[in-house]
Amino acid sequence: MTRADAEAPVVGTAGRGSGLLVLTPLRVEAAMAGSSGARVVRTGAGPERAAAAAQRASGQEAQAVAVVGVGGALVADLGAGDLVVAEAVDGPGGRVELGSPRLLVAALRRAGLAATAGVVRSSGSVVTGGQREQAAATGAVVADTESYWLAPAAAGRPFAVVRAVVDGPGRELRRPAVVTEGIRALASLRRAMPVLSSWAEACCPRTVLLAGPRSFCAGVDRAIEIVERVLERFGAPVYVRRQIVHNAHVVRRLEAEGAVFVEELDEVPDGTTVVLSAHGVAPAVKEEAGRRGLRVVDATCPLVAKVHSEARRFSKQGRQVVLIGHDGHDEVEGTLGEVPGTMLVGSVDDVDALDVPLAAPVALLNQTTLAPSDVAEVARAVRRRFADVVEPPVSDICFATENRQQAIEAIAGDVDLVLVVGSANSSNSQRLVEVAERAGAQAYLVEDPDAIELEWLKSAEVVGLTAGASAPEQLVQEVVDALGGLGPVDVHERVVVDERVRFQLPSEVR
Ligand code: SF4
Repeated sequence: MTRADAEAPVVGTAGRGSGLLVLTPLRVEAAMAGSSGARVVRTGAGPERAAAAAQRASGQEAQAVAVVGVGGALVADLGAGDLVVAEAVDGPGGRVELGSPRLLVAALRRAGLAATAGVVRSSGSVVTGGQREQAAATGAVVADTESYWLAPAAAGRPFAVVRAVVDGPGRELRRPAVVTEGIRALASLRRAMPVLSSWAEACCPRTVLLAGPRSFCAGVDRAIEIVERVLERFGAPVYVRRQIVHNAHVVRRLEAEGAVFVEELDEVPDGTTVVLSAHGVAPAVKEEAGRRGLRVVDATCPLVAKVHSEARRFSKQGRQVVLIGHDGHDEVEGTLGEVPGTMLVGSVDDVDALDVPLAAPVALLNQTTLAPSDVAEVARAVRRRFADVVEPPVSDICFATENRQQAIEAIAGDVDLVLVVGSANSSNSQRLVEVAERAGAQAYLVEDPDAIELEWLKSAEVVGLTAGASAPEQLVQEVVDALGGLGPVDVHERVVVDERVRFQLPSEVR
């Protein structure tokens, strides 16, 4: 790193920008940062200048403060132009913890930049040669000579440190490499500036209102425990047909423990154990497993199994089974397979198009994870069209789906934004977004905190937060932590129902 550019601090493009105060040590860094229109203060290089600049900057008006500049990588896997966003800054007096950089890192990545979170090590002189290894041993990934001394400039405001790598272990920065490596680093900083402006605009003290109940239901808990117990009892690998529950994080965790997820049984080797997912399967799947001599452990949720048994019962009574559900969903596939000839409807138009005599006796069932209001309209159309319609005494929409929908409905009117944690293929998570939107909220489905866009948070001082029945509570906590990187977060919970249901495990794993 060159430190030739170390004149007294000057202020560039003062008075403009988005409430973001950018501190940059070098003139070239200030030129890059200033190109975005942000308010930029050039601090000068090194600890003394940084400390003096921090004192002056701490009194300046700004919503958020960021240190932007180049740095030297301490680890080999960071290349020129890669960005490190500090989760903490180490210096001679110890470690300064920063708020979670997760939302900023994710936004930089969405902008096409190679960004990573890590510890920045600030020292009194430029770290080179073997010093890099020593500094890396403390857990830091990039080094500079200012960030630690600039940290007091934040003065309680959200604070970010973004360093673009110019050199690294075995790649000491010497001319002519300085030209290409330096240009690459500065170009990354320039591209990062609009993202930092969005970050600053999203910074504010915030209330998070948690909807209760949320996250895992009894059926999902049971399905996951079944896979874990099968792994314990029979050892890895354990084959699981389809995603055990519709959540990418759950699937990845179980894969790491030895579960192998397959689409169909023909991918399962003979003589092994296969777990059937919580969504249920058609009888033909179990028959095939029997023929193949596979050891089957069925994780079908008892509430899905209830729909299957209703379908069989009504069909035996000579009724045409009509199922309200979403075409292609695993649960729907299983229920359709239970009684061949079952007719699937998803809308009033589908009901009007049914090729069933109007006088035929009909049994009306539905997928467990729908919204009651969606079902009500289609169910009314079925009852209007056919003279003889029977339905189960208790709704097929499961308690967990209803509870989570009621919980989000109860908070949607009091928040600026609703975040629903869940995977895109999770039906009940998708319904939570729709229920929140119908209640007038702006709502988004997010797989995890990395999917949260800073723009959504710009004027969102109160955020409603829930999770679909297949999404782990840990992800909800990760969202809260990530929001904490944008300012203080006050967390409250509003519980509409105390949900204590547990389902018994199947005998094979009890
Ligand atoms: S959402 Fe309902 S039907 Fe689905 S697994 Fe959970 S309890 Fe069972």
